[in-house]
Formats: sequence, C-alpha cells, structure tokens
Amino acid sequence: MKKKILLIHTGGTISMHVSEDTGAVVPDTINPLTKEHEKLERLAAITEIEAFNLPSPHMTPEHMLKLRDIINDQLAHAAFDGVVITHGTDTLEETAYFLDLTTKFEAPIVMTGAMRSSNELGADGLYNLVAAIRVASDEDARGKGVLVVMNDEIHQAVNVTKTSTSSVSTFQSPQYGPIGLVTKMTIHFHHAPITREFVDVQSLTKRVAMLKVYAGMDGDLVDAVIDAGYDGLVLEGLGQGNVPPALVPSIQRMIQKRLPVVLVSRCFNGIAQGVYGYDGGGKQLEDMGVLFTTGLNGPKARLRLLIGLNQYQQPLEMSRFFQ
Ligand code: ASP
Repeated sequence: MKKKILLIHTGGTISMHVSEDTGAVVPDTINPLTKEHEKLERLAAITEIEAFNLPSPHMTPEHMLKLRDIINDQLAHAAFDGVVITHGTDTLEETAYFLDLTTKFEAPIVMTGAMRSSNELGADGLYNLVAAIRVASDEDARGKGVLVVMNDEIHQAVNVTKTSTSSVSTFQSPQYGPIGLVTKMTIHFHHAPITREFVDVQSLTKRVAMLKVYAGMDGDLVDAVIDAGYDGLVLEGLGQGNVPPALVPSIQRMIQKRLPVVLVSRCFNGIAQGVYGYDGGGKQLEDMGVLFTTGLNGPKARLRLLIGLNQYQQPLEMSRFFQ
C-alpha cells in the first residue's frame, strides 16, 4: 500500500524560475512543483499544501511557529506516514532546527530545497523532492526527528548547515557527517540520533540578537543590543569560546541585567567551552554566567534562546536548557 505523505511548500529556489527578461531567479505565482503532482503520486499518496511562497530570507520565527501548527493540525486529523517540506536553502537549517525542537512525531519530517531553480540547466529541485518523499516514506526514517535531504544525503536538523553559496552539495554536517544516504534503489541509514528534545512552545514574544566576534572588537555593539531592549544575545565567539577583553564589561553589564548571553564558536567544528582563564577567556565568561551550547551554530543557538526565553523565567532553568 502507498504511504501517505503530507507535502508542505514554503517557497525558495525550488519553487522559483529564471526570468527570461532579466536573468534573475524569481518566485512564480504558480509553484512549478505543483505541476509535478502526477509524478509524485507514483511514489506515495500525496496531500499537498502551500503554506507560504517565500524566499527563505523572508522566513521569520513566527512563520516557523505557524508551520509547526500546520503540521500539528494536519497530523492530528489524518494518519500521515511522513511529512515533506520544501523550503529555501538560505534559512532551511533554522526552520529544520526549530521544527526539530518543537515537534515530537514518530513520523519523519523531511525538509528539502534546491540550488538551481525549476527551468535552470541541472535543476535539482524535483530530484531532491523525490528523494525527500522516498526518505519520508521509509520505515527507518521514523523516530529520527527532522531530517534534511539534499543531493542524495540525509542530515540531522541539529547538525546540518549550508556551506556553499551555490553548490548542489551545499548542505553538510560538519564534525558529524550525514546520517544516511539515498541511492537509486534504497534509503540507507548508517547513524541514528541518540537523543531527541521537545519543547512545547506556544508563542514567541522575545527578541534575541546575534553578533559575530572579531579581533579588536569592543563593547559598543553589545551595549547597543542592551540599549535597544533585546531580551538576549548570542555571540559567535572565537575558537574554543573566547572574546577580546574589551567586550567583557559589556557582557557583564548584560548579565547583571538578567539578560542571557549565549556563546558559540565561529569555528564550524567542535564545541565552545569554558577552557581559557585569561581576560575574555571562556572560563572567565562561564564563571560570569555566560551560557554555552553543545556545538550549535549561531543561528540555531539564537532560535534556542528565543524559545528558551519564552519557556523559562529562572536563570537556572535557562542554563539547564543549554547544557
Ligand atoms: N535565496 C534562496 C532562498 O533561500 C536560496 C534557495 O532557495 O536555494 O529562498
């Protein structure tokens, strides 16, 4: 019997085409993927929904929450075997991580996109969509949370990141690698997540800023974040989790105001930790109350803090959420 798949479109290059007039990649009024319904029906019984038609730089956490609500609602009313979401690649990893944290279905949720729009030479959209539907229909994909399928690889939402501006192999999981492969004949998983998390978030009302740390940086930008009324800050720090000393008084000021500061690393491999004891070193920052994550990148840590701020009022609860 055919598997039942819920296919949700949100926009992105996978739903765009190159304009003959300007040569620019532009959104379509009619999503070109919806014309492929018959082909996709050969793979599974597809229920198709157009949630949004947005370039993914237009996606916001509010859209992500809405998408989560659509999935909850659909899965409450029909027995789908899997969910496939098409999405622009620029912020795909953020939506993937958000949904991974805020849903808890056994049915797989598989996200995909394209690096070449529908009428470009070597367009990868339909190919990736077919692969995503095959993965979402596979029994072995169950219970693994949100997966990203692109270029014949299966990645976990928590680890995957866009690494190239234009290559079709842009999605990689630095440090960890993909957890499975899509071959012509089979879906092959070689790893499985060891933990899954679920946060029952109902609304997002806070504001979290993110700054990249650089050599010679002073505290002005952190001060500006405080003065602009943000509720929290993610710093993409240096190496194992350090910042220039001139930044420390502003970080301290932020923490004294009970505004959480999370430190991740600019490095895309490894985990930032309180290792160094010098001025601006991770140990000093940790002792001061700066929060660390277990290897999340900046944009994902930002979403985690945004969600955490809505759920946890006590600093201890927040620090547990980041351990
Ligand atoms: N800029 C596009 C977007 O994210 C890129 C893509 O979809 O590949 O919407």
